[in-house]
Amino acid sequence: MSVLLRAARRIENICFDVIFPRQCALCDDEGSLLCTGCKRDLTVWPEGLCAWCSSVDNGSNICDECAPQWGIQGLWIGYRYDDEKVASLVHSLKFQYQESLGDDMGLLLSQQIARLPSEIESIIPIPLDRKRKKERGFNQAYCIAKAMTIRCGVAVNERLLFRTISRAPQATLDAVSREKNIQGVYQVRASDNMPRCVLLIDDVTTTGSTLREAASILREAGVSHIYALVFAHGTPPENINKTS
Ligand SMILES: [Zn+2]
Ligand SMILES: [Zn+2]
Repeated sequence: MSVLLRAARRIENICFDVIFPRQCALCDDEGSLLCTGCKRDLTVWPEGLCAWCSSVDNGSNICDECAPQWGIQGLWIGYRYDDEKVASLVHSLKFQYQESLGDDMGLLLSQQIARLPSEIESIIPIPLDRKRKKERGFNQAYCIAKAMTIRCGVAVNERLLFRTISRAPQATLDAVSREKNIQGVYQVRASDNMPRCVLLIDDVTTTGSTLREAASILREAGVSHIYALVFAHGTPPENINKTS
């Protein structure tokens, strides 16, 4: 992006903020999309707690026994999805089309995660269904990926993994149906510079089937080390509308 275009965007954002002051997505306080108090109230996923069997491990949020089943070497989770505030934040991002909120959430997550492996060569956001991306205007996983790039200096690669098939939103299905629904939807674009180690990024994981499918396709294409990072994990609270 040119310097002039960047400056124009900045002026546009300032003008927009003057006309429509930013409000916290959770408490409506003016000033930012996510205020300091609400950030502090979000329930953090405990460090070292395995997402799938709840054993306590050092380092990442997947233990040595569960990691091979998911085909990933390490997993880091920011927050608990069963916390209504966390679920509400993800909901605002996805269904109120607040892309800037995604940038703030990505920044928050990047500050929350203490350490990532230094061998990561590419950051891969989980691709969104083309139709859904058109409706929403952005991929929420990409917002988080951008923030991680700033944090660790590794570039986002949006081209390597892509989605070819449109299916029902995962959140509307039970665990068994999710597994079938996600199979075969991703492909890897052939590249002479296939990374050996990647970090997959998603906004939410519940059963882990999306991460597992993406990891399996990447592994088949020659990626040997796959790590994953998600904003939130867990079962959503009852009152959250499951439409995507
Ligand atoms: Zn707030
Ligand atoms: Zn485990």
